[in-house]
Amino acid sequence: MSKPVTDLIHHPYQPPAGFAAPQPGVFKASTVLFANVAAMRARDWKHKNGYTYGLHGTPTTFTLEERIAALEGGAECVLVPSGLAAIANVGMALLKSGDEVLLPDNVYGPSRALAEGEFKAWGITHQLYDPMKPADLEARIGPKTKLVWLEAPGSVTMEFPPLAHLAHICRQRGVLSALDNTWGAGLAFNGFDLGRGDRFTPGSGADIVVQALTKYPSGGGDVLMGSIVTRDEKLHQQLKLTHMRMGFGVGGNDAEAVLRSLPSIAVRYRAHDAAARQLARWLAGREEVAQVLHPALEGSPGHEHWRALCGEDGLAAGLFSVVFHERYPVRQVDAFCDALKLFKLGYSWGGPLSLVVPYDIPSMRSAQLATWPHKGVLVRFSVGLEDPDDLQGDLAQALAALRAAP
Ligand SMILES: *Cc1c(COP(=O)(O)O)cnc(C)c1O
Repeated sequence: MSKPVTDLIHHPYQPPAGFAAPQPGVFKASTVLFANVAAMRARDWKHKNGYTYGLHGTPTTFTLEERIAALEGGAECVLVPSGLAAIANVGMALLKSGDEVLLPDNVYGPSRALAEGEFKAWGITHQLYDPMKPADLEARIGPKTKLVWLEAPGSVTMEFPPLAHLAHICRQRGVLSALDNTWGAGLAFNGFDLGRGDRFTPGSGADIVVQALTKYPSGGGDVLMGSIVTRDEKLHQQLKLTHMRMGFGVGGNDAEAVLRSLPSIAVRYRAHDAAARQLARWLAGREEVAQVLHPALEGSPGHEHWRALCGEDGLAAGLFSVVFHERYPVRQVDAFCDALKLFKLGYSWGGPLSLVVPYDIPSMRSAQLATWPHKGVLVRFSVGLEDPDDLQGDLAQALAALRAAP
């Protein structure tokens, strides 16, 4: 007779198979069991036709991978524990000592820090290029260049680059390109088919599309995860091998949280977009504001590229930045941020809560490239899902506090 504690582990009860519900189950495991030694030896995890170990995938993570690949218009997906881990996984898989990676000057900041830190220490060099000038990218591609990062729009300063043109240059020069598609979320445009809106043909987009699922796919502000999507099977296997060797698996509960949010991503994205445009337009009419940076707003840098790629009635994320008039010093803009009640101070975006972050742009950009034309202080807004009229009221009272601040 077994002791009760053994029965807790080896209990014979099995729930009936075939539980049918629309929402997928949550599978969590490190160990995966095999029926016999032959089955253990024969198991293949690379092609999603079996399970070997939790790190290599579970029914829950395989399901999420397939759905993210569908969202991005790709064929295969690798899930990693954060958006930044997706960027790191791509670099580690494709770059070795002696190689060079090119990054847009307005790249997501931690991606540049990775190039300046670990990659540099491993003998991998990097150059920054001006994403608004395709000729600058073209001139910097050399024999050592093995990877070009693309991002649209640029981080914080929101310049929308001629993305199709940049990807076309990479393709022509035989260099792999990887797009950080967190802003577009697979909804504003298709990262693999950048040709739709202008003169380049479909299929001329990026080779690799990554996304911080932390943002809109999660939508809750409660999960950190990243995805790496490809159409090319060989490239996918290369990325997946690095993923396996680095141990970049994701947790079942986190994967389930994203699966739960995904069906509503399009309606959420549209709601964030509409509210952000209302507030961006309202702020553009305020005398305290020198410039609103929002790709879908006329007069924003790269607006014409956004329109060409996403369409006249295209989508945009709920994200924009505001440059205050230069007569307001940092302490008055800080007073504005502190006076906000509904907008909270915090990094990241994509959740229901509206957020702001003040940034010091000149310290974040290389002066020799795109010269930052503004003297005023920049604040980045991430618009959540609150009623946009309430958010507008919050901005109005905080602008009064800005004017009244000493
Ligand atoms: C947030 C973000 C990332 C990183 O995602 P984490 O999950 O926070 O690591 C990468 N790229 C962009 C554009 C982002 O906004």
